[in-house]
Amino acid sequence: MKYLPHTIMTYLSRLGYWLLPQSCFLCGDISHQPLCHACLADLPYQQTACNRCAYVLCSISETCENCRREPVVFEDAKTVFAYEYPVDKLIHAAKFHQNLAILDLLGQLMAQYITVETLPDVLIPVPLHPSGLRSRGYNQALELAKVIARYHHIPLDYTACQCIKKKRKQSTLSGRSERRKNVQGIFQVKQVKSHWQHVVLVDDVVTTGETANELAKVFLQAGIQRVSVWCCARRN
Ligand SMILES: [Zn+2]
Ligand SMILES: [Zn+2]
Repeated sequence: MKYLPHTIMTYLSRLGYWLLPQSCFLCGDISHQPLCHACLADLPYQQTACNRCAYVLCSISETCENCRREPVVFEDAKTVFAYEYPVDKLIHAAKFHQNLAILDLLGQLMAQYITVETLPDVLIPVPLHPSGLRSRGYNQALELAKVIARYHHIPLDYTACQCIKKKRKQSTLSGRSERRKNVQGIFQVKQVKSHWQHVVLVDDVVTTGETANELAKVFLQAGIQRVSVWCCARRN
């Protein structure tokens, strides 16, 4: 119930675009959606990426060098965009300026572009630390997961785990080991359902995959057999 007002606001904003066309967030043209068709088509959709961690690669390759050297514990990762202009601007607006219409659109794009042969048992949004949730008012990963869950009819659970320790921003740290250390012990699994075998973690941005890797670790320790990651954008 805590998140209901945001759901209502998202619907209202979606309805608002249809009833009264507004301007495209990027180019300013009249649009029935937060982005016009031309801007939507121009987004940096990710073409080639590592199938383990979604690291953007220049050519088709199964796994990146990092994953060959030190594999992540999640089985695979899927991403829609490379984290570059204007996706960085969209995510910033969705995350820090309460632009729920953009957040909803990013969720819809994730739902449409991420395809799988068999659906997972549950979607788990990467939790925010309670202090971050209080100051932002919503968890952007949960809002994205809600759209994907509705689109694909996948159950969603945002109570299965929690963030118990505040971390420094991963993007401010340079080395992989520094990032890995920064997220150690920040998550705790509260409950997993007995029929869950394949869990998908949902996040807005994956930087090196260390946060998702840490959360995947605690789910594997809790007895989940398979963990995947779906993210909106991968920062290289
Ligand atoms: Zn536009
Ligand atoms: Zn990789």
